[in-house]
Amino acid sequence: MRFLSTRGQAPSLGFSDAVATGLAPDGGLFLPETLPDFSHDLGRFEKLSYAELCFEFLRVFATDIPAATLREIVNASYTKFEDPAIAPLKPLGKNLYVLELWHGPTLAFKDFALQLLGNLYAHQCRERRETINVLGATSGDTGAAAIHGLLGRPGTAIFILYPDGRVSPLQERQMTCTGVDNVFALAIDGTFDDAQHSLKEIFGDQDFRTKHRLSAVNSINLARVLAQCVYYLYAWLKLPAGERGNVEFVVPTGNFGNVLAGWLLQKMGVQIRGFRVATNQNDILYRMFATGEYRVGAVQPSLAPSMDIQVASNFERFIYFAVGRDASKVREVMATFQRTGAYAFPNFDRSSFSASRCTDAEIPGIMAHVYREHGYVCDPHTACGFKELNPDRVNVVLSTASPAKFPETIRAAIGLEPTHPSLEALKAKPVVRHRLKPDPATIRAFIDAHAVAR
Ligand SMILES: *Cc1c(COP(=O)(O)O)cnc(C)c1O
Repeated sequence: MRFLSTRGQAPSLGFSDAVATGLAPDGGLFLPETLPDFSHDLGRFEKLSYAELCFEFLRVFATDIPAATLREIVNASYTKFEDPAIAPLKPLGKNLYVLELWHGPTLAFKDFALQLLGNLYAHQCRERRETINVLGATSGDTGAAAIHGLLGRPGTAIFILYPDGRVSPLQERQMTCTGVDNVFALAIDGTFDDAQHSLKEIFGDQDFRTKHRLSAVNSINLARVLAQCVYYLYAWLKLPAGERGNVEFVVPTGNFGNVLAGWLLQKMGVQIRGFRVATNQNDILYRMFATGEYRVGAVQPSLAPSMDIQVASNFERFIYFAVGRDASKVREVMATFQRTGAYAFPNFDRSSFSASRCTDAEIPGIMAHVYREHGYVCDPHTACGFKELNPDRVNVVLSTASPAKFPETIRAAIGLEPTHPSLEALKAKPVVRHRLKPDPATIRAFIDAHAVAR
């Protein structure tokens, strides 16, 4: 299968090249040339384990990797998960389930994609006898998950930018207490959007990209989106058959990567009724689905920091479909948005989406309510999902992080302090981080000095 850029001005690539490239050279994001139809495979998929299902799904896209190799890559990617189900779907009440996506090594849903991406990169380095330098920006969990996907792998180095003081102390420890020398945690003096902005500029510099074989690991990577489709499919198959067609996935949302994956799966022939885009007080996407206008605001730090995003980098993939797969129209929308900070969509099909927003003032009360009603402890991101449920649907709330990552917020809300042994162990390890200004020149100089050579 080939993959096209949403901006239509880059050559199509095979799976491995699209994954290694990250952002397309024309500034767009890769999407499959045609979306496959899985509607006739669902019966056959029902009995599969998580890793088997993931393999069956990905093989349709990763046609340039031999099946046996792909199977090994996929199997290796889901061995570090603590729960045998990988993504357990737990009933909480009538028409209400929670899909726990935090049983991987960094205790957040990003492990699903980044364990796989780490194995894909490692495979490529072996196969092509090349080195790779991975660069990403994080508002918390992506960085930790990306780092744990590439930890100590030969031929790779990873540079992660994060806003200093705006990720949780435990998230920071997951990035800075690794004890390996191919990981560079870069604390920048600015917001996540500042980090993202520098990153876009660095990736726009073709010579620099080529020189260091730079690859992006942020949420725009094609492999991440595809890996994330799998847990929606897995959860859908675990629901009683009579409930599947009425399911609404409730998705705590920041960069729109997670919910986009579910929506793409729906377009691939899986009958999902809808998606709820659940934002925190950084509500650009809530406003988008409420009004049809995409307008950037200022980032406000919140209790759900991994969703502290205004410009949702994956949204361009949705825009591509919303404007009828017209790449020139995507370019126009993105240019207008870049210039003015806003774009009003005259008409687009938002029938699959609803949206909610949850302020910091509401999060503790929701956590307490969920605990009282269901005896369930949820983290602040997941709490945004519980803000509003649809009584006419089977609600599956995606739980995106382990409560143990946010002990202070949870103690304040319900008086309990969840812990996890892997997080306790981090507290004894030394922190290694580099503090940098968020300007592209400074970051480029740091990479020049520390990148793994060919
Ligand atoms: C990244 C993250 C989100 C937001 O996911 P997007 O794909 O950026 O929408 C939500 N919750 C947690 C815990 C996360 O780490």
